[in-house]
Amino acid sequence: ELRKLALFEVIGMYDHSLAVKLGVHFFLWGGAVKFLGTKHHHDKWLSSTENYEIKGCFALSELGHGSNVRGIETVATYDSNTGEFIINTPCESGQKYWIGGAANHATHTIAFSQLHINGSNQGVHAFIVQIRDSDGNICPNIRIADCGHKTGLNGVDNGRIWFDNVRIPRENLLNSVADVSPSGEYLSAIKNADQRFAAFLAPLTRGRVTICVSAVYISKISLAIAIRYALTRQAFSITPNGPEVLLLDYPTHQRRLLPLLAKVYAMSFAANELKMMYVNRTPESNKTIHIISSAYKATLTWNNMHTLQECREACGGQGIKSENRVGQFMGEFDAQSTFEGDNNVLMQQISKALFAEYVACQKKNKPFSGLGLEHMNKPLPIIPSQLTSSTIRSSEFQIDLFHLRERDLLRRFAEEVLERQSLGESKESTFILGGFSNSPSFDTLSGVSTSIAKVPDGRRALVLVVFVGGVTFAEISALRFLSAQEGMAYDLIIATTKIVNGQTLVETFMEKLG
Ligand SMILES: Cc1cc2nc3c(=O)[nH]c(=O)nc-3n(C[C@H](O)[C@H](O)[C@H](O)COP(=O)(O)OP(=O)(O)OC[C@H]3O[C@@H](n4cnc5c(N)ncnc54)[C@H](O)[C@@H]3O)c2cc1C
Repeated sequence: ELRKLALFEVIGMYDHSLAVKLGVHFFLWGGAVKFLGTKHHHDKWLSSTENYEIKGCFALSELGHGSNVRGIETVATYDSNTGEFIINTPCESGQKYWIGGAANHATHTIAFSQLHINGSNQGVHAFIVQIRDSDGNICPNIRIADCGHKTGLNGVDNGRIWFDNVRIPRENLLNSVADVSPSGEYLSAIKNADQRFAAFLAPLTRGRVTICVSAVYISKISLAIAIRYALTRQAFSITPNGPEVLLLDYPTHQRRLLPLLAKVYAMSFAANELKMMYVNRTPESNKTIHIISSAYKATLTWNNMHTLQECREACGGQGIKSENRVGQFMGEFDAQSTFEGDNNVLMQQISKALFAEYVACQKKNKPFSGLGLEHMNKPLPIIPSQLTSSTIRSSEFQIDLFHLRERDLLRRFAEEVLERQSLGESKESTFILGGFSNSPSFDTLSGVSTSIAKVPDGRRALVLVVFVGGVTFAEISALRFLSAQEGMAYDLIIATTKIVNGQTLVETFMEKLG
C-alpha cells in the first residue's frame, strides 16, 4: 500500500491531472469495489481494475447536490420480477456532475443512488453500472457530456452522466453495508441510517490522505523554486555602485518565505503521520482517521494555495511563466479545496465531532480519547509568570499554548451551542446556521460575535491605532494579521510618529552618544 501511495505521489509531482485520473480509477472506483463490495465483486472486478482492462469512475456528486450528497436524486428501484435494479436520473438537477474520467474514458462507474424498495427510500447506496463498452462506445440508455474547460486539471475528463432507466443485475449493488434479497427484502446489519450513510463514504478517506500528502509536496516544490530564485536574484544596491542585494537578504523576503518553509516542515510531518495511520488502520481507528484526514485535508490544501500565491509573487514575472511551474500549480491544485469534501463543509463536520466528543465525555465523566483531545485529560498547563527567551522557544511551551487555546475555544464553542439549544434551537440549525467552523478564527469566540452584532449592517467598525514614539514592522504585521482574520469586527488604521527598525534604533543611540 505504501508503494502505491509513493507511486501516486511521484506521479502527482510530475502531473496532477495524471495523478487525479489514476486516483479516481484506483482509489475511488477500486476503493469502492473493495470496501463497499464483497467477495463476488472482488473476484469479478478487482484484477481487471488492477491491470486497467476496465476503467472506473466514481459518480457521487450531482448538479443539484455536491456538498450535501445525502440529497442526491438519482434513484435505484428494485424490480423483483426480473431481479434487477433500475437506475434513473429523474430530473436535470439529478445528473451526475464533475465525474472524473466519465467524459472520455471510463467504462464503469459507481452510481450512487437513493435505493427505493417497495415504495420506501432506504437512502444512498452504491451500484456498479457499465457506461461504455470495451471499444469506448457509450452504452444504451446512458447519456454523457463533458463538463467543459476548467481553470486547471484539464487532463482529467470530468463529465456529466444521465441514466435513463438503466437495468443492472441485483448483484451490482455493492453489498458490504446493506443487501437486497432476490424477493426484494432490505437487509442491513447497520440499523442506523446515519451510520450506513457514513459507511458508504469510506472510500473518500483514502483520497483525502493522498490530497494531504500532495498538497504538502507541491508547497515544497514551489518553496524550493522561490527560495532558489531568491538565492540567485539580486535587486537594488545599498551603496552607490555597490553590489545588488540578494532577494533572500531582504528581511521582508525572509519573512514572506521562511515562515512558510517552517510550516511546510510541520505539515510534512503531519501528512506522513496521517499516511502511516491510514496504512496501519484498524476498525477502531477508522473514525479518528476520518476526522484527522478531513481536518488535515482542509488545513493543508488551504495552506498550499496560500504558499503558492506567495511563491508566485516572490518569483516576480518569472512566477507567471508556465515552465517555472508555480503559477501553473495554482490552477492545477485549487480544486483540492473543493473535491472529496469542500474544506468549509469538512471543517463543520470536525466541529460537530469535537463538540459531540466534548459533551459526551463531560456528561459521562470519561476521558477524551481518539480525537487528539487527550491533553484535556491532564491538568491545565501552567504558563510561567516570567517568560525567558528559552521558554518561549521550547516546543513544550509552544504545545502548552496550543493546548490551552484548544481547550478555551472548545469550551466556549460548546457553551455557546448548548446555550442556543437550551433556548429551543435544534441541534442541526445550531450547527448549520450558527456559522461555526473549526478554524482557529475569531468567529468561535463569543466576545467577538457580540461585537459584530453591534456593527450596523454587519460592516466592520473602523479603529484607529496610534503608536506614539514609533512602531516596528512586526507590530504592523501583527495588526495586519489580526484584521485579516475571519470574523474580526474591526478594520484597523495605524498611525505612528515613526517607523522603528534596526537602523533607526541604532541611530537613536548614536544621537544620544553624540
Ligand atoms: C475538478 C473536480 C473534480 C471532481 N471529481 C469528482 C468525481 O470524480 N466524483 C464526484 O462524485 N464528484 C467530483 N467532484 C465534485 C466535488 O466533490 C464537489 O464539487 C464538492 O463536493 C462540492 O460540491 P459543489 O461543487 O456542489 O459545491 P456546493 O455544495 O454548491 O458548495 C458551494 C459553496 O457553499 C459552501 N457550503 C455548502 N454547504 C454549506 C454549509 N452547510 N454551510 C456553509 N457553507 C456551505 C461550500 O463551502 C462552498 O464554498 C469534482 C469536483 C471538481 C471541481
